[in-house]
Amino acid sequence: AKENAKNCYALYTPEMHEKSLKFLDMEKDLRNALSNKEFILYYQPLINLKTGKIIGLEALIRWLHPKKGMIAPNEFIPFAEGSSAIIDIGEWVIHEACRQLKQWYDMGLPQVYIAINLSARQLRHQDITDKIIHIVNEMGIDGGNLLFEITENVAMHDLRQSIHTLNMLKSVNMRIALDDFGTGYSSLNYLKKLPIDMIKIDKSFVQDITKHHDEKFIAKTIIDLAHNMDVIVTAEGIETENQYKILREYDCDLGQGYLFSKPLPAEEIEELLLSGKG
Ligand code: C2E
Ligand code: CA
Ligand code: CA
Ligand code: CA
Repeated sequence: AKENAKNCYALYTPEMHEKSLKFLDMEKDLRNALSNKEFILYYQPLINLKTGKIIGLEALIRWLHPKKGMIAPNEFIPFAEGSSAIIDIGEWVIHEACRQLKQWYDMGLPQVYIAINLSARQLRHQDITDKIIHIVNEMGIDGGNLLFEITENVAMHDLRQSIHTLNMLKSVNMRIALDDFGTGYSSLNYLKKLPIDMIKIDKSFVQDITKHHDEKFIAKTIIDLAHNMDVIVTAEGIETENQYKILREYDCDLGQGYLFSKPLPAEEIEELLLSGKG
C-alpha cells in the first residue's frame, strides 16, 4: 500500500486531511528529498521594461525525483505547506539562493537581486527574521540583494504579526513584493497597511490586456494605483510582444515571462548574465 501511495500522490488534493497516512508519507518523502539533496532552484529573470536589462531573478524550486524526474512546485509545495516540512524546505531555499548570490558576486557577474517566495506558515514562524538575517550574515551578502514575495492571503492571516515581520526584514534593506496581485481578497485599505515595495500583477490580468473588453484595463488600473502609492509594478507571465508593448505603454516597471526567459538552472543564468543582458 505504501508503494502505491508513493506512486500517485500527485493526484491528491491539498485539501486532503493532514493526518491521513498518505499525507504522512508525503511529508516523509519531502524530508527525505531534503536530506538527499533532491531539490534544485531555477531562476527566472525579471526585466526592466524600459531598458530591457535583467535586474532580478525569481528563485523557483523544483524537485529532481530519482524515479519520477522533475516535479513542479505546484505538485508538492501545497503539501509541504500543510506540515512543518515547509519550514525546512523554505529555509533550504533561502540558504541556497543566498549561496548562489554570493557565488555570482565572487565570479564578478553583474549584480542582480534574488526574489524568494515565502509561504504563510514561514511568515508566521517565530524565528523567520532571525533565520534570514543569520543566513545573510553567514554568507556575507547584502540584504539589499534580497526580495521576499508573499501573497495577499498570506499576509492577511495575521496582519499585525505579518507587518511586524515585514518591517524587520525591511530594516535590514530587504524588499517585499505582493505576489499574484488581484487574485486574493485584499482591500485597498489593507494594501495601504502592508509595508510593500512591489506589486506583481498576476498573469491572468496580463493575458486580459490584449482582449477587447473592460478587463483589459484592470492591469492599467493596478499600475496607476501602485504608482500613486510609490510601489513598483512587475507584470507576470508576459508571453507575447503585444503584451510587452501594451505594458510599456501602461508605464509598467518590470516584467517576467516566457517572452524574455523561462526559469533556468543557475549555469544558464550565468551565460545570460555574462552575455550582457544583466
Ligand atoms: P509564482 O510565485 O506565481 O511563480 C510564477 C510561476 O509562473 C512559475 O511557475 C513560473 O515558471 C511561471 N511562469 C513564468 N513565466 C510564465 C509565462 O510567461 N507564462 C506562464 N503560463 N507561466 C509563467 P512554477 O515555477 O511552476 O512555480 C509555481 C508556484 O510554486 C509559484 O508561483 C509559487 O507560488 C510556488 N513556488 C515556487 N518556488 C517556491 C518556493 O521556493 N517556495 C514557495 N513557498 N513557493 C514556491
Ligand atoms: Ca512568486
Ligand atoms: Ca506570482
Ligand atoms: Ca502563483
